[in-house]
Amino acid sequence: MRKDILRAIPSIDELVRGPDLKEACRTFSRSLVTEAATVVIESVRTDMLSGRREALSEGELSAMVIDRLNVLTRPAMRRVINATGTILHTNIGRAVLANEAAEAVALAARSYVNLEINISTGERGERDSLVEGLLMRFTGAPAACVVNNNAAAVLLCLNTLGEGKEVIVSRGELIEIGGSFRLPEVIKKSGCVMREVGTTNRTHASDYTSAITQNTGALFKAHTSNYTVVGFTAEVGLKELVDIGRKHNLPVVEDLGSGSLVDLTRYGLPAEPVVSDSIKAGAGLVTFSGDKLLGGPQAGIIVGEKALVDMVRKNPLKRALRIDKLTLAALEATLRLYLNQDTLCQTLPTLRMLARPLDEIEALAKEVARLLRARLGEGFSVTVEDAASVAGGGSLPGHGLLTKAVAITHIQKGADELSRIFLANDPPILGRINKDRFLLDMRTVEKAEDVVISLSPL
Ligand SMILES: *Cc1c(COP(=O)(O)O)cnc(C)c1O
Repeated sequence: MRKDILRAIPSIDELVRGPDLKEACRTFSRSLVTEAATVVIESVRTDMLSGRREALSEGELSAMVIDRLNVLTRPAMRRVINATGTILHTNIGRAVLANEAAEAVALAARSYVNLEINISTGERGERDSLVEGLLMRFTGAPAACVVNNNAAAVLLCLNTLGEGKEVIVSRGELIEIGGSFRLPEVIKKSGCVMREVGTTNRTHASDYTSAITQNTGALFKAHTSNYTVVGFTAEVGLKELVDIGRKHNLPVVEDLGSGSLVDLTRYGLPAEPVVSDSIKAGAGLVTFSGDKLLGGPQAGIIVGEKALVDMVRKNPLKRALRIDKLTLAALEATLRLYLNQDTLCQTLPTLRMLARPLDEIEALAKEVARLLRARLGEGFSVTVEDAASVAGGGSLPGHGLLTKAVAITHIQKGADELSRIFLANDPPILGRINKDRFLLDMRTVEKAEDVVISLSPL
């Protein structure tokens, strides 16, 4: 019995040399096909011996091997359709790059570039200099440099100015943002001692001044990017903090989080702190992300006084946190788009989605609803409704942007199950669940086909 079962299964060698897998060997290499065939035959043998499976033909076994090869060689990083409405969604890669930035990345990837060489003199250059001029122009700062991300920028600035010293920060600004960035922990890792002042809802100038000692290295201010404190509140504004710093000869470091290079109200959006305002107010160093409102690649940007930025540049940590050439290429190309702010709404995907007209979103929602009704089977109901999208990435906290969502419900399946069905699509479609209902927010969806075409009939 046992012998019969085992005899019914071809050997690995027979299977690999058979007609079906010959072709596969050309595509995937013989050793990879052999590896996949070994795994398939072993699992089939186990299943047959335990009675869980009937004998399979060679054709069926080959098909299983090819399936396995396809899974094995499929990229782990795949395109995901963002129907969450969250424009800067950290889990799916935050800002989508502009075409210009994507092309710059491709160029830098495929060729040598003048990353650290001054082409006019042939001498060694600084990689930061490729973007410093643009950053100075758009922020009004006398100097700028870039690192891996904003968390790195904060760490580096604090380490440079305050290692072994105290950094004073308001209790109202001890933020935690997603992905394990907790300010108290970053301050600690920067080698500074955190000196908290004030209370959760109210901090006054006198709280800062009475905490300043011989051992103070810097005053720190963080933009409370993912929450707002409302009600009986008081905070010391940046300008006032700078005045306190000047009296005591202490620099002010501000973590702006998202930090916009342009005034968003110009595009009909809620106000978000503008980096140039912080420079005007006299901050010594300002840090912000490249892949939040700026709409570029993951990067941490540091702008501020020349003497302070020079100190940051000389810090050995800067080398460990440096930005790579692909990111720099994307960042430069993104910044170049800001040279024409009249067209920014078309050229920069992040801004385009933020400022997307409601009638355009609604037209898309209706089209998607129509196509989905035709595609989804019995028991489903599809409606278009008002909803609110968020910017994400700690940008524009507390501001929902009016949007249109396609709500999908089913007489038996719950929102979780519907969400899993859409995620299993190729490419996966990520919606959001609101009050146990599954929604596809159209603000972040480019075209109807993206959420419908490949969806198999349900
Ligand atoms: C997002 C954010 C950070 C972290 O920035 P990353 O670029 O994700 O490292 C730090 N501080 C604030 C206030 C933020 O909003």
